[in-house]
Amino acid sequence: MTTGERPRRVLVADDDTLVLEAYRRVLDGLTASAASDASDFDALSAELFGEETASDPGDALLAGITYCRQGLDAIGKVEEAFAEGQPFAIVFLDMRMPPGIDGLETARRIRRIDPDVNIVIVTGYSDHKPAEITAAVGKPERLFYLLKPFDGDELQQLATALAKRWSADIGMAAELAKRVAELEALNARLKTSEAEAQAAARTDALTGLLNRTGLGEQFRIEADRAHENGRRLAVLYLDLDRFKDVNDSLGHDVGDELIREFARRIRTATGEDGFAARLGGDEFAVISTVPSAAAELGRRLLEACLVPYVIGNQVVQTGVSIGIARADAEQQNLIETMRRADIALYAAKAAGRGVMFEFDSSMERDILGTQRLASDLAKAITNDELMLHYQPLVCSEGLPITGVEALLRWTHPTRGLIPPLAFIDVAEKTDLIHKLGDWVLRRAFADSKRWPDIITAVNLSPVQFKKPGFVDRLVALATASGVDPRMIELEITETVLIADMADAAGKIRQLREAGFRIALDDFGNGYAGLGYLNQIQFDKLKIDRSFIENLRAKSGADEVIRSIVGLAKSFSLSITAEGVEHLEQQLFLQQAGCSHMQGFLFGRPMQADDLVRFRYTTLTAQASG
Ligand code: C2E
Ligand code: CA
Ligand code: CA
Repeated sequence: MTTGERPRRVLVADDDTLVLEAYRRVLDGLTASAASDASDFDALSAELFGEETASDPGDALLAGITYCRQGLDAIGKVEEAFAEGQPFAIVFLDMRMPPGIDGLETARRIRRIDPDVNIVIVTGYSDHKPAEITAAVGKPERLFYLLKPFDGDELQQLATALAKRWSADIGMAAELAKRVAELEALNARLKTSEAEAQAAARTDALTGLLNRTGLGEQFRIEADRAHENGRRLAVLYLDLDRFKDVNDSLGHDVGDELIREFARRIRTATGEDGFAARLGGDEFAVISTVPSAAAELGRRLLEACLVPYVIGNQVVQTGVSIGIARADAEQQNLIETMRRADIALYAAKAAGRGVMFEFDSSMERDILGTQRLASDLAKAITNDELMLHYQPLVCSEGLPITGVEALLRWTHPTRGLIPPLAFIDVAEKTDLIHKLGDWVLRRAFADSKRWPDIITAVNLSPVQFKKPGFVDRLVALATASGVDPRMIELEITETVLIADMADAAGKIRQLREAGFRIALDDFGNGYAGLGYLNQIQFDKLKIDRSFIENLRAKSGADEVIRSIVGLAKSFSLSITAEGVEHLEQQLFLQQAGCSHMQGFLFGRPMQADDLVRFRYTTLTAQASG
């Protein structure tokens, strides 16, 4: 018997001792050498033959033979063996076993106990037809006949064949059971991982909040519920203020932790009143299921987000802007509700940060207005409706004009003059900025040749500056126009540095190598710290106009200006104060050591022709004065 196979036990039932003796002679040869086993001791076989052939896991074909002389005995043995998990492989049954039940009845009952055992009906008379026996016992494929008197070879062959067949059947059944179990386990695993995958598919990995898909599903569920109760859902659309700056300047780990902490606050503030989701980046949404409390929920969210974040050893201060919109009563549709909330969010951000706005249809008109503005601007660039004005910059000593700053002007055919900040923003959002920026550079380079002895400053948008290949493009434009790069000053803001300091530093170095001057515009207003001043060489700082404005209103502004001037000097940078409107400002700035000034006091932005005339008059005035 090979390892893993089950012992092939045999039961013989015949009332005739001589016949049993005949069985014994044949079957013994098929078992391993007898070794007595008290527990398996069979009383009858002991009485007959002195001992039972013991089960021995050698290479024997049969594991042990049990003998009995009555049908009921045989049934008892089968029952016992089956209960112990050591069922018989073959049962030989004499047809007639007086005084007890006959072989047919015995077979019938044995089959009910053990469906797999091979039953051999041994008979010398045709008491029953095989068909009758089959009908009574069942399982014809495991029912066999042996005619009495049988000879030894016949019995041996039958026993051998049936024993092997039983093993094969049982083995197959076991194999099958194993495979079924494996399949079931696999199926169960698939089901769990499917459930996990489904949960993962609706969850945001970073925060554990719902993701976009999850939000959609939850909205549908809540919309059905709300519809039954005659309620309208509301959606709050949240956007972390200045998240990109934090991420760029403090690193992605701090950014991720900020997002996680923000998510925790949203979840806590929302509580039982709705469901929070992260839509990606720093955008979040909350479905408010208690619509009357949506605004209150919004206020809670605003407040929760105002508390500064402590991440590692960093303290990060950021607020949140929120747009709220309610779903339509008839058709509660997430996409439409989100679209409105997005418009409200856009309006909230435009109104200053840390603000919450609820959607109303006038906002939609503003948005449509923005889109129209973008398409009008595209036309204006092609149709040459734009202009550059030039504002003088003067040297603090003696006030001669040492340069001009080019400032964009757009006179819209129906809307009149549009200030640059109103349309540059739109251009940056729509990618029009590159076309627009090129236009400004070309025009400023061309105009600057009318005043080659002074510097022409041009403002660069961060979006324009960050575009790969920008330096080459700018150098090419300058070469094409024949302008001397040393007379061109490029004004950039700190925003450029925040996004990718290494990239910005590289570009600034290349531009300076090509001869251009670089001014850092709106200085003091920024967010990037001052560390970059050690790494990047500029030519000039322009103090933001707000500081000059504050000179009159707020105490302390003079101190700030003095320290900025000191800082500029220590880095050997020249310095321009912007927005000088009053004599007292001029006098203070001169005394503070500010090298250059710009403002309405010295000249407003004007057309190129006017500038040429203006220079002529100031030059002659100075010459005669
Ligand atoms: P900026 O670079 O700070 O330009 C100076 C702004 O201050 C100009 O506003 C100028 O008209 C204004 N200004 C100058 N002196 C005074 C003063 O004494 N008092 C007051 N109250 N204001 C003064 P403007 O022309 O409206 O331009 C606004 C901003 O638009 C500019 O700020 C600049 O950031 C941007 N900008 C203008 N032209 C361009 C351009 O060609 N390209 C890019 N990318 N941005 C531009
Ligand atoms: Ca400027
Ligand atoms: Ca400025």
